[in-house]
Amino acid sequence: MRRGLTAVVAATAIVALTGCQSGTAATGSSSDAPSSRTSGTASGSGSASSPPSDTTPEGTTASYPLARSDPKPDSYYPQHGVPYLDTLHYQLDLDWQPTSKRLSGTATIDFRVTTDRQSVRFELGSPMRVSKVVLDGKTVPASRSGNSVIVNSGAIKANSKHEVAITYAGRPALIQEPAERSDVQKDGFHIGKNGQVWAFQEPFGAFTWYPTSDQPADKAYYDARLTAHDGQQGVFNGQVTSTTVTGKDTTTAFHLDKPAASYLTTIAFGKYKHEVVQGPHNLPINYWYANPNAPTLKLARKTPQYLAWIEKLLGPYPFASAGYLLVPGNSGMETQTLPTFSEALSKPTLAESEGDIVHELVHQWFGDEITPSDWKDMWLNESLTMYVEFRYMEAAKMPMDWGTYAEMQAVLDQRMRDTQGPPGAYRKGDFGDLNVYLSGALLLHNLETAYGRTKFDVALRGWPATAKYGNSDRTKFAAYMSKSLGPKAGPYITNWLTAQKTPAPLSKQP
Ligand SMILES: [Zn+2]
Repeated sequence: MRRGLTAVVAATAIVALTGCQSGTAATGSSSDAPSSRTSGTASGSGSASSPPSDTTPEGTTASYPLARSDPKPDSYYPQHGVPYLDTLHYQLDLDWQPTSKRLSGTATIDFRVTTDRQSVRFELGSPMRVSKVVLDGKTVPASRSGNSVIVNSGAIKANSKHEVAITYAGRPALIQEPAERSDVQKDGFHIGKNGQVWAFQEPFGAFTWYPTSDQPADKAYYDARLTAHDGQQGVFNGQVTSTTVTGKDTTTAFHLDKPAASYLTTIAFGKYKHEVVQGPHNLPINYWYANPNAPTLKLARKTPQYLAWIEKLLGPYPFASAGYLLVPGNSGMETQTLPTFSEALSKPTLAESEGDIVHELVHQWFGDEITPSDWKDMWLNESLTMYVEFRYMEAAKMPMDWGTYAEMQAVLDQRMRDTQGPPGAYRKGDFGDLNVYLSGALLLHNLETAYGRTKFDVALRGWPATAKYGNSDRTKFAAYMSKSLGPKAGPYITNWLTAQKTPAPLSKQP
């Protein structure tokens, strides 16, 4: 997510940072994801070696080794996610009626259970009425309880795999976000003017429009087939595989090539135009926009050059396509392969907004390719991404909008710890505040200063490969940095994340 200007801190930070150059307007970024995964077989802790070989799920009965996760209750938001459920592949066949504002369709989900079960629960927003549930080819009874669908599976064994098809319809309702951000207060399926639709759903909210286990620790493959009416066009992550137009109705199929956490899916309906251009090494870049005069379209169209810059620092882009989806909503989100961003600029000028567009692209490495397993490690997404955004600003000779690192170290970091909590122990009602962005970026800057940029950049670039397309956490990050940089790095990181007082910078290391 981009950095959201939060009520309390924004004001205090600006006051505290008198003399800070441009630091004004509102923006931010943030995001986070799942836990450990295995190499397609047993065990269950995050593998730090090469990823299991991938299997294209489309049209096969693949076992989805890369989508295998070992979810646990999230320590921050345990009310979301189903801890015994490991979803592997979603086929979402959805139909949106913009006049009646009704979403209907069937979600066909391949999943694994990690314990013996008599029933299996999925999250799905309570306004959605479930009309039919088919499990492994047989219609089974199901019941509703709040935002849950309970599928009466009968006895099924731990580690067994199944396929459920849930047919449902209704008008999705948003859910309150546990945050104090100015850009997003409610998460999930947003319905705008003329039945236009878009989604922002971090840390949860995907369940408002499809049945899922809505936690970062469970990544899965996705295919979607969206039917739009009245001249609208449906948009989803990944690449278009087919389009069928019948009068004013359009059905478009999408395929996402690597597993994604639920908060990284996106959906939109509107009078969308689609352009495909070539990025670095012939990467397809998709632009989806309804308003050709959207100010952010000018920046989004520079995606190929932003990716070329990021690849020099972080290595090859990790997915089969990239792009930008522009929506009427007021935020920005690193939805996988297709960031979702406001049509409006995030800062007063085009130039100042550029960092936020670069930000969501950097997340494709930090957050999407490697995803936190628990929301307590939201900083792993935002700090690493923010640090790279600041490197971009440095390269582009743009001022850092929150002041220099020296100013952050002297004043702002402590203020964030006091008001929002340390970056690795943020207040639960204050999701995605500045601390998980800036304090962690300062931590990385301190490591860079202590070990030197050359060594630090090699370490940073190697991090996603430690759990490629999977999940990880702070313990693994600290251990990895100790190994890559030197023995003091890990303990310095661990202390920084929960210290009540801003730790001193790390001294020069050999
Ligand atoms: Zn972000």
